[in-house]
Amino acid sequence: MAFITRFAPSPTGPLHLGHAYSAILAHDMARAARGRFLLRMEDTDLERCRPDYDALIQEDLAWLGLTWDGPIHRQSQHIPSYNSRLEALEDKGLLYPCSCTRSDIRAALSAPQEGVAFNVYPGTCRHRSMATRMPGDALRLNLAAAMDSLSAADLSFGETGPVHAGQHRVDPDRAMQQIGDVVLSRKGEDIVAYFLASAFDDSDQGVTHVIRGEDLFDFTPVQVILQHLFGLPTPVYHHHRLIRDDQGKRLAKRDDARAIQKYRAEGAKPADIRRMVGLQNP
Ligand code: GLU
Repeated sequence: MAFITRFAPSPTGPLHLGHAYSAILAHDMARAARGRFLLRMEDTDLERCRPDYDALIQEDLAWLGLTWDGPIHRQSQHIPSYNSRLEALEDKGLLYPCSCTRSDIRAALSAPQEGVAFNVYPGTCRHRSMATRMPGDALRLNLAAAMDSLSAADLSFGETGPVHAGQHRVDPDRAMQQIGDVVLSRKGEDIVAYFLASAFDDSDQGVTHVIRGEDLFDFTPVQVILQHLFGLPTPVYHHHRLIRDDQGKRLAKRDDARAIQKYRAEGAKPADIRRMVGLQNP
């Protein structure tokens, strides 16, 4: 079987050690399997993503000795295709408009991260029909209805990561408690949310293995559900350990002290970065 994986940063900050680990791991696994390593910029959040971070991420990856196959896929250039998926979900009766607070909805647009509270939506607007949609409303997935429309037996995914290796069946009760009705789009600003864009890109780009941080493991079911709703293949998942700081905290975008750019400026070599994240040098 072909092995196709991807590194999918959001260009909202510089590449730090945690990203470097993810990218090197995915790259090395693809090369060892004689597969493909794709680079995808998850840049749909136009307020936070910046072209200079996009360029810097590419520069750091190249400095690390990583090469990617084919052109970079920038999500901001594919908004119409995400919107057509949204329309199909609307036709299936699986979306509803939501006017709850802007900051909740704003936070829900990005990929969840360990250490940043993920608010499971209580379903306040779930009774609303799409006909009541107002300018400024977000669109949420009615997760329970989505799961009801699928055969529970189909909702499974394989995992090869060190912590959860095995076959996982989506548990509907757990999915409601941990994930709930996620935001898929913010109205009027052409912003689609991480869950939707990333799930469809993985299928559309033929990704066979999703290699990413452990903090996204619990949210995988919603992406598997979205893929199943469209009859698309679900990749195998590999959630890897997170690179932590000295206090055991996951590195985040704000940890510029761990930016690859900074290590480069201090004279580090790519082999030093591999060593710092606990990877063998090739
Ligand atoms: N853009 C996401 C992030 O930077 C990547 C998530 C994924 O690999 O699915 O956190």
